[in-house]
Amino acid sequence: MEQTLQFLAPILTNITRYFIFAGIPFLIFYVLFPNYFSLNKIQDRWAKNKDFIREILHSMQTSVVIGLVVMAFVFTPLKYYSNIYTDISAYPTWWIPLSIAVALIVHDTYFYWMHRTVHHPKLYKTIHLMHHKSVNPSPWASYSFHFFEAVIEALIFPIIIFTLPMHPIALAGFGLSSFIINVYGHLGFEITPKWFRHTVFFEVFNTSVHHNLHHKKFIGNYGLYFRVWDRVMGTEHPDYVKEYDLIQEKRFGKKQIALAK
Ligand SMILES: [Zn+2]
Ligand SMILES: [Zn+2]
Repeated sequence: MEQTLQFLAPILTNITRYFIFAGIPFLIFYVLFPNYFSLNKIQDRWAKNKDFIREILHSMQTSVVIGLVVMAFVFTPLKYYSNIYTDISAYPTWWIPLSIAVALIVHDTYFYWMHRTVHHPKLYKTIHLMHHKSVNPSPWASYSFHFFEAVIEALIFPIIIFTLPMHPIALAGFGLSSFIINVYGHLGFEITPKWFRHTVFFEVFNTSVHHNLHHKKFIGNYGLYFRVWDRVMGTEHPDYVKEYDLIQEKRFGKKQIALAK
């Protein structure tokens, strides 16, 4: 029993993480306080229950696929070829947070190019259309992928562990921060503070409006965590900043936005 649980740990961890970190925001924004956050709502209409069910079922499938890929590299002799280290003193302590940051940059790069590839008309229907069924995404959409896309998404795990020395703590930190940012991208509500707009963070990081616009318009804004690749490659949606400003003006009022400059 204990061995089975240990064997299934990556799958169970993914499913638990999904229900906690997508479920709590869903409960707060969609069930308990939708009126309180009405000004934060990015699209006026609400997704339907059938959307949530489709998103949850496909996210379960993705959680299993990612868990299986992790198991294939952690519980088999393949692990000896990876750069995972368990002796925490093998690298400086500061490498733990830095390796998480580098892993996020590697993931963002992989995701951007993979995402642009699956938008190719020859691949879109078979691989990526399922994710875009959520035109008005909710936190439940975070892992809502077709089986093929789930496999492609999961490949970031071997890419990371074969290129970067990663401690299991850093891998867990990367997985958790990645998922939380993913949920924020699909939240359906903009929650960035007023001051965010006129800092370097706005220039570099994606917002919920950024990824929401990708779901609404189907083109542009392919990046996962950062705006950088979209800006360098000229694929950022031309309405992004305007749409972001509109919602922040709705939330804080025009005058306050101006004062924050
Ligand atoms: Zn897409
Ligand atoms: Zn999405």
